[in-house]
Amino acid sequence: MDIDTNLLKDLEGYVIYSLDYKETSRIIKIFTKRLGVISVMARGAKNPKSKKMNLTSPYCKSKFNLKKSRGFYYLIDGEIIDANLGLRTSIDNLYYSQLFSEIILKTVYENMENNEIYDFYDKILKHIDKIERKDILLAMFLLKYSSMLGYKPNLLSCINCGKDRFNRVYFNIDYGGIVCQDCYGPVGGIALSRQDYTYLTQLLYEKIDRADEIDFPKARADEINRILMRFLFDKTEIKKLNSWDLIEKLKLL
Ligand SMILES: [Zn+2]
Repeated sequence: MDIDTNLLKDLEGYVIYSLDYKETSRIIKIFTKRLGVISVMARGAKNPKSKKMNLTSPYCKSKFNLKKSRGFYYLIDGEIIDANLGLRTSIDNLYYSQLFSEIILKTVYENMENNEIYDFYDKILKHIDKIERKDILLAMFLLKYSSMLGYKPNLLSCINCGKDRFNRVYFNIDYGGIVCQDCYGPVGGIALSRQDYTYLTQLLYEKIDRADEIDFPKARADEINRILMRFLFDKTEIKKLNSWDLIEKLKLL
């Protein structure tokens, strides 16, 4: 029996990045359930008649058949599980899909254990077109995802003295948690209102599908997202997120 060990069958994953390559091909990054994020060459994928065209579209969830050769993967064929067409109904949906995917791309590596992250990403993508408040969905993503990477912020007690009752609270990015009024000064932090603080705890403990039930002013939510983004940058190797810069720029228009 001739078994090609370099053949990978039914590898479930999402295309999270797609780049045209030469005349007819594409290089894609697939966020897989089993192997983390991998780079795949899809020959002939730019041909509209090729079945590979849809398989290499961003945010499509598929089962891929790949061949591995010299450390690189090649797309043979596959089967679409969910084209996530809902994401394509508005430009907003696409910007946020792009942002979530770029964060995954920059924090998940090949062969990294990622079952929890994969299921989380899967759930987030399924909710983008159903949630009105994308700013709150993003905040939930940032807090929950930072937690999955091992940086769950301590919101329940002061990171310095352990006190769990406060008159005033501050968020310290370095230590990843809150600072009480008595410790603030020697220990730095960003001032949070009582409403901000309640909002942060809701983000951490509330389910994604309930994002629209959280009532929080838009302008303040934007500010909290900037803080959470700084927190994520501080804890990971992310230096820049093009899709985030774009979303921020569009707000000024
Ligand atoms: Zn304290």
